Amino acid sequence: MHLSEKMPAQDASESLNHARADPSMPDNRPEINRLCLHTITTRSWDVETAVSRYAQAGLGGITIWREALEGRSPAKIGQLARQAGLQLTSLCRGGFFAALTQAGRQAALDDNRRALEQAAELGAPLLVLVPGAAPGQPLDKSRGQIAEGIAALLPEAQACGVRLGIEPLHPMYAADRSAINTLRQANDLCAALDSSWVGVVVDVYHLWWDAELPAEIARCGKSGWLAAFHLSDWLLETHDLLNDRGLMGEGCIPLREIRLQVEAAGFGGLHEVEIFSERWWAQDPGKFLQAILEAYQRHC
Ligand code: ZN
Repeated sequence: MHLSEKMPAQDASESLNHARADPSMPDNRPEINRLCLHTITTRSWDVETAVSRYAQAGLGGITIWREALEGRSPAKIGQLARQAGLQLTSLCRGGFFAALTQAGRQAALDDNRRALEQAAELGAPLLVLVPGAAPGQPLDKSRGQIAEGIAALLPEAQACGVRLGIEPLHPMYAADRSAINTLRQANDLCAALDSSWVGVVVDVYHLWWDAELPAEIARCGKSGWLAAFHLSDWLLETHDLLNDRGLMGEGCIPLREIRLQVEAAGFGGLHEVEIFSERWWAQDPGKFLQAILEAYQRHC
């Protein structure tokens, strides 16, 4: 429903008051310098190209995926990004703590320690964690292993000055990627771990469907856990569980509504666009970036 349909024209002052809270009003459009892109979103560009193209477009930041760092010095890439005027938002990604064997869990810890060092060298304040799940073991057992894994990393996180960001994933990934599927579960885990080196990554793609989302966003923000905010869209016809996310506006997520909730909860960080899409990846990344800029201001 639009305000114009609801309100008589002479009620202009009242309309203005309502406008501040109405996600459909252009006043609530975000500025481009609040936007951050994940390198995976434009994955055919190498990280150097991504840095220069993002900066050229006026973006505020960059989140770097570890594969983009292969064969490179994270410190040099971090310096390059900062010199271009981009904030290093996060390093993606660590986690995957659940495993059937002790050796598997140890391998995950070792890999997360390397990721923490990379994030520190890069100058990224946050390491995003995909919590993990192991097919063949109950989800609650995986949740216990996730909690243990994160707890084991806390000393290194503190030593590196890098926060660990728990990202709850949509339940369609519960079998093999994440036994943490709601914001409530991630918040509860933060409460149990009770460390300023742990926070939560709120990704609209994973969480938009949850009736508890507004209340849990408020709880997350109030408790100081809200570490990052990821954007994309949920397509009505999703053809692939991993690589068929929508550009903002192509799907059904109430993006601006959630963004305003996150900000009302005290989140002042960048808005990160993270889109895995074979469809968009097949296009020219420059055109995709242009489409992202437009969609971000129109829908987020
Ligand atoms: Zn995400």
